Amino acid sequence: MSKNHFLRSIAENDIKNGKHEYVYTRFPPEPNGYLHLGHAKSICLNFGLAKDLGGKCNLRFDDTNPEKENIEYVESIRDSVAWLGFEWDKLCYASDYYDQLHAFAVQLIEKGLAYVDDLNAEQMREYRGTLTEAGKDSPSRSRSVSENLALFEKMRAGEFDEGEYTLRAKIDMASPNITLRDPIIYRIRYAHHYRAGDKWCIYPMYDFTHCISDALEGITHSFCTLEFQDNRALYDWVLENIDIDENLNGETNKLMPRQIEFGRSNLEYTVASKRKLIQLVKDGHVSGWDDPRLTTLVGLKRRGYTPASIRNFCEEIGVTKKDSVIEMTVLENAIRQDLEASAKRVFGVLKPLKLVITNYPEGESETFTVKNHPKDESMGTREIPFGREIFIDQDDFMMDPPAKFFRLGPGREVRLRYGYAITCNEVIQDSDGNVIELRCTYDPLTAKGKTPDGRKIKGIIHWVSAKHALSAEVRVYDRLYSEPNPGASEDFVSLINPDSLHVYPDAKLEPSVAQGDQNDRYQFERVGYFCFDEKDNTEQQLVMNRTVSLRDTWAKAKG
Ligand code: ATP
Ligand code: MG
Repeated sequence: MSKNHFLRSIAENDIKNGKHEYVYTRFPPEPNGYLHLGHAKSICLNFGLAKDLGGKCNLRFDDTNPEKENIEYVESIRDSVAWLGFEWDKLCYASDYYDQLHAFAVQLIEKGLAYVDDLNAEQMREYRGTLTEAGKDSPSRSRSVSENLALFEKMRAGEFDEGEYTLRAKIDMASPNITLRDPIIYRIRYAHHYRAGDKWCIYPMYDFTHCISDALEGITHSFCTLEFQDNRALYDWVLENIDIDENLNGETNKLMPRQIEFGRSNLEYTVASKRKLIQLVKDGHVSGWDDPRLTTLVGLKRRGYTPASIRNFCEEIGVTKKDSVIEMTVLENAIRQDLEASAKRVFGVLKPLKLVITNYPEGESETFTVKNHPKDESMGTREIPFGREIFIDQDDFMMDPPAKFFRLGPGREVRLRYGYAITCNEVIQDSDGNVIELRCTYDPLTAKGKTPDGRKIKGIIHWVSAKHALSAEVRVYDRLYSEPNPGASEDFVSLINPDSLHVYPDAKLEPSVAQGDQNDRYQFERVGYFCFDEKDNTEQQLVMNRTVSLRDTWAKAKG
C-alpha cells in the first residue's frame, strides 16, 4: 500500500460515498517518444491507485497527431509500463474512437454547438482576444446547421487544403477562460496515421478527444498535470453537451469522469521534454533512447535501475498540487537502497595495476571463502582465487603519498581485503615515468584479517587475481548535464557535460561474475553498483555499466 495523497483521498471518498462502485483510471501517453521518469510518476499514480483500491486502469494511447506518432513509440511505451510492474485492464487507442468522435462532432453541429470556420490561424488569434479583452465572434459563427454539416462533410472528404477550415465548438468568445473561446475541435491534416492509415484527413483535437475517450472507457478519475487546469472547463463542456450513455462498454460506473490536476515532477540535471529528447537522440548527442545517461525508462533500465527502485522513487516524491523539482540524490538513493540489499558483492578493478608478490611461491594459488553479502547470509558465499600476481587499482597506489593516504606507496604496508597484508618494495616505471608494476612481499601470518603482532595496518584495498581475472569493458556514467535546469535553455545541447561517460576498456573482475545471470546486479566493493549492459554484453566481451556510485560524490564535491 502506498502513501496517502490528495488524489487518493478523493478517490477513496468517491467510493465510500457511493459515487462510483470502483475507481477506474487511465495512463494516457501520446506515442510521440519514449517514456521518462516524469511519466513513471503518472504511471505509478494511475496504476498504483487503481491497484491499491481494487479498481482498474487502462493504458491508452492518446494518438491524434499523425505526424509525430509511430508504432516504435507505442511498443516501447507498452514495454516500459509492463517493465515497471503494472498490468493494464484494457489497452486502448484514441484512434480507435475516431468514428465515434466524428459522430459526436456531427451531433454538436446539429445542436448548433459547433461550426465550421474559415479564419486562418493568424485571424483566429486576432479574434480570440486577450486575458483582459474579450474575443470577437468569427463571421462563420452564424453559419446555419445545414451549411456546417455540409462543410464538415467536405472537410472529411478531403475537399479542402490543410488550414482552410476548422471545426470549432461554439461556446463563448467573451469567456474569461480563453480555452472556452470557441476552441478548435477538428482540423484538416493530410497525414498517414500509423494506426488509422489514410482513412482520415481530419483529426480531432486533444481537448475533444480526451474527455470522450475517458467517458467511453468508463474512467472515473482522469488525472492530468497542472497545465490542463484551464482545459477542465472544456472537458466538462464537451461531456455535458454530447449525448453519451453514462453506462458504456458494460461498465457499471455511472457519472461522467472527472478531471483532476496534479503537479509535474522534474529531475534536476536532466531534460524530460520529448521534443528535446528526440533532438538529443536524432542528432547523436547520446547513443539512443536507451542511453544510460538519459532518464528515459529504457535508459534507466539499461543503466541498471530496477522497477522497484523507480516505484520507490515515485512513492518518495509523492503526489502534490504543485510542480516540483527533484534532486538527483533522491533517485540515486532509491536505487542504492535497493542494491545495497540485493546486490552481490564482488571485486572489480577498473584501472588495473599489476602487482607481483615476490615471496609467494610461483605456480601456486589458494582461495578465500567470502560472503556474497555482509548482512544477508542467504546470499551464500563464493571462493575468490589468490596467487602471486594480482591487479589492484591504479588509484590505490601513489608514488609520493600524503600522510592521510591509507593505501599503497613505496615502502608502505596495506591489507588486501579478505587476504594478506603486503608491503611495497619496488616500483617499476616505464620510460615516461608511468608506474607499470609493483613488487611486494606478503606476510603469511596476516591471512584473513589477522595481525599476530598487533601492528596497525590502516588501509584495505580490493584486488583481483591476475591469472583468474575476467577482462571487461566498464562504463561509468556521470550526469549528462552539469547544469541543474538544462531544459530551461533552448541551447540545452551546448550544456551537455563533456565528461559524462568514462569507458574503462580493460577492467579486471573476479571470475564469479562470469557465472552471473544477465539481470544480476553487483556491488564492486569500494567502487559502486554495476549491471551487465543489456545490448553490448556478450559471451565474448563482458560489458558492464555503473548504475550508481556507493555514495553521493556530488554532495561531497559541492559541500
Ligand atoms: P512532452 O510534453 O514531453 O511531450 P507529455 O507530458 O505531454 O510530454 P504525454 O505523453 O502527454 O507526455 O504524458 C502522458 C502522461 O504523463 C500525462 O498525463 C502527463 O501529464 C504525464 N506526465 C508527463 N510528464 C510528467 C511529469 N514530469 N510529471 C508528472 N506527470 C507527467
Ligand atoms: Mg502531452
